[in-house]
Amino acid sequence: MQFLLFEPIHEAGLKVLAAAGEVRLASGTDEDTIIAEIGDIDGVIVRAKGALTRRIMEHAPRLKVAGRHGVGVDNIDVDAATELGIQVVNTPLAVVEGVAEQTLGLMLALSKRIVYTDARLRAGDFNVRYRTQGRELFGRTLGVIGFGRIGRRVAQVCHAAFEMPILYHDVVAAPEMEREIGARLAPLDDLLRTAEYITVHVPLLPETRRLIGEREFALMRPDAMFFNTSRGAVVDEAALYRALKERRIAGAGLDVFEQEPTAPDNPLFALDNIVVTPHISTTTEEGLVKMALVAEDVVAVLEGRPPKHPVNRVG
Ligand code: NAD
Repeated sequence: MQFLLFEPIHEAGLKVLAAAGEVRLASGTDEDTIIAEIGDIDGVIVRAKGALTRRIMEHAPRLKVAGRHGVGVDNIDVDAATELGIQVVNTPLAVVEGVAEQTLGLMLALSKRIVYTDARLRAGDFNVRYRTQGRELFGRTLGVIGFGRIGRRVAQVCHAAFEMPILYHDVVAAPEMEREIGARLAPLDDLLRTAEYITVHVPLLPETRRLIGEREFALMRPDAMFFNTSRGAVVDEAALYRALKERRIAGAGLDVFEQEPTAPDNPLFALDNIVVTPHISTTTEEGLVKMALVAEDVVAVLEGRPPKHPVNRVG
């Protein structure tokens, strides 16, 4: 079996692949480079960089399986894979704690002004303590847009740790979470008008692209804090910038951007009411191992066994 990696993966996954065949690292992640290197490949693993396009898959006559190291398959043309008989697999359980904890980290950092006051203190400004104030999460309403694995985990932690009432918006109801933590399903506009903390956890799909834009920011409370650890393109970044700059909302915490890598002169970076991280939620000791083990499903498919986490149905 021949395997191609778009990017390096943890050795836990490499071992699984090496036991079954030969592993190569692509020399680049642009379409033409991958096309030049995928001709004899049976299984491919994709991380966040680059995309597995229809054109690539059409140049891969032996390709039977594509593993997504992570969960979001917006950089894999799943419809084309299905048509071409290529099984797509991912690691939905590997990312939940990493992204949920990142979201909590951004919420705490922004609310308690940790990053801002850290920078001021290092610059010798201990007296910043008299010119700034934080706020507590305790008891404030959380609005979760996209109540899947990650959204629910964020809600559970916020409910358990800070007694936050939970509103959620999703295309499917979650009655078990309504029972467990008293979460309430709300139309998007009601959630946006009500919640003090708003966090987005939808996948990037045609219907979620720019789900949160000018109109949605206008509905938010002036004290609302907004968080995006899903995909940058779910949010209209220019509209977010204007809402923050004009203090129409209180702040934002972001792990993802419309363009990645985002430009060093992204206007958002001039604002002091944001906290930002470079798409790093799942880059944890635990997450990197668990995501690399997508290799197990890649090998399973090639050996004719059913994968644990299929994304599409083929054959
Ligand atoms: P999930 O599939 O368990 O949950 C997604 C939820 O969104 C589902 O409940 C679904 O019904 C809902 N949804 C879909 N379309 C919707 C719509 N139009 N309106 C409202 N709700 C809608 O996925 P998950 O594991 O919770 O992950 C969510 C997303 O987080 C991923 O798709 C990925 O893009 C992102 N993610 C980011 C990172 C990171 O490093 N920052 C890591 C992993 C995942």
